[in-house]
Amino acid sequence: METVFFFNRNIPVLYDVECAVVGGGTAGAVAALSALEEKIETVVIEKTISLGGTQTNALVSPMMPTQVKGQRINDLIIERLHKENVQTNDGTTSCSWFNTESLSYVLETLIVERGGHLLYDANYVDCLKENGKISCIIVNTSNGLYAVKAKTFVDATADALLSRTAGVPVESGNEEGQNQQISFRFEMGGIDVLTLRNFMKAEGDTFCKIDHPEFFEIAMVPGKGHVLEPYFQKGLSDGHLKEEDLKYFQAFTQPGKNTVMSFNCPHIPGVFQTTDPVLRSKAVTKGREMIRRLTAFLPKAIPGFEQAYLIKEASQLGIRESYRIKGKYILTEQDYLSRARFEDGIARGDWYIDVHSVKGQTVKPEPLTKGEYYEIPYRSLITHEAANLIVAGRHISSTFLMQASLRIQPTVRDVAQVAGMACAYSVKYSVDLNNIDGALLRRQLRNREEKAWME
Ligand SMILES: Cc1cc2nc3c(=O)[nH]c(=O)nc-3n(C[C@H](O)[C@H](O)[C@H](O)COP(=O)(O)OP(=O)(O)OC[C@H]3O[C@@H](n4cnc5c(N)ncnc54)[C@H](O)[C@@H]3O)c2cc1C
Repeated sequence: METVFFFNRNIPVLYDVECAVVGGGTAGAVAALSALEEKIETVVIEKTISLGGTQTNALVSPMMPTQVKGQRINDLIIERLHKENVQTNDGTTSCSWFNTESLSYVLETLIVERGGHLLYDANYVDCLKENGKISCIIVNTSNGLYAVKAKTFVDATADALLSRTAGVPVESGNEEGQNQQISFRFEMGGIDVLTLRNFMKAEGDTFCKIDHPEFFEIAMVPGKGHVLEPYFQKGLSDGHLKEEDLKYFQAFTQPGKNTVMSFNCPHIPGVFQTTDPVLRSKAVTKGREMIRRLTAFLPKAIPGFEQAYLIKEASQLGIRESYRIKGKYILTEQDYLSRARFEDGIARGDWYIDVHSVKGQTVKPEPLTKGEYYEIPYRSLITHEAANLIVAGRHISSTFLMQASLRIQPTVRDVAQVAGMACAYSVKYSVDLNNIDGALLRRQLRNREEKAWME
């Protein structure tokens, strides 16, 4: 077996492929699928044993509404979810709904069907570089360290792990170095959703606009006039809840899981840095304690929850933002405000600047109106430091505020599709990833996308 020399040891090479995707999450799974559609040999290295990352292991659903038409790989995934009898369209919003188990299964199936390799339970550790390129990466598996060689590498770790170890500069947090709020999501089963809906309607809820048996949403943020607030305040005065439990409460149904809702909370108080491993661990412990209180309170207080119980805690923390690479172009809030267009624009975003701030301040630049969007340039995915590296995920090159818009799942998926296409282009035409003319990829997209997303 071929080996590479790493820290005074010979490490066996497990794969030598055309494309190695590090992180099989929201972006990584899509980048891999896109590369496989272009017929290049691809391996996904994922530290857990399921694909989807924040979407599945952090239990984050649904995909936020966007007026931007999703690209091909997004459509492919949605089509396959439909074949699995998962409804994705609520008939009112342009959210794309799913349930976590079906999504990770669908992503895995699509990749395996296309001949992709999956290396689960494999933690990226470090990379080796030669002449400005990554020659191989080192991963830790249940059988110890292995090396993976590839012509192209996708950093889809969301924390810019591969980029940072390859010498790419990064930024993190706002001007004060504070990251967005962490959430620790969970699911409850045994909910009588119909009773809950009827109760919410009887209370005069106007928050959930959707009128569909499978799709429903509840929320409570103090001072926003939500009908659940008096119930939460009573929970507080009765001693069932603490002040910190009331900061943000939200839950969504999961299509295909009739009595289940997925909770976009609790917000973890007091953790200002998502890049600190000790603080992340403290956030888990704190979140678990808060989940226990919420899941004990709801059956006592809210009709529909009488028989409900905790069925699942996320196996990945809900990290909205950590490191962002400083690539060839840093996308800024000015680009958001100007509805920027670029010659190498390869994806579009239109979600508002959605900052869940640790300090509680709300940054609210005017949301874009229907049909307006900004473009994301290819240069925000590539770096000066590693010629055969491309980045896909929430950590592409952007400012803190801009990241708060482009981080939503549909945008992350569209960016990731292009990362996979770029790897194939690099392999087929022997051009370094950081030397590809993004305008060429834009043309390739325009020619291939059935929906002709670029006018
Ligand atoms: C609490 C919360 C609520 C949100 N709500 C919504 C919402 O309602 N709708 C919406 O559209 N967006 C929402 N978002 C935003 C969106 O879900 C994320 O920005 C997006 O999913 C991030 O995708 P990603 O690919 O960058 O990261 P991820 O999906 O997290 O993928 C990263 C992957 O890399 C893997 N990985 C990391 N390190 C290593 C390593 N060393 N070795 C191997 N693998 C590794 C991880 O296991 C993971 O699979 C929310 C985000 C959060 C945190």
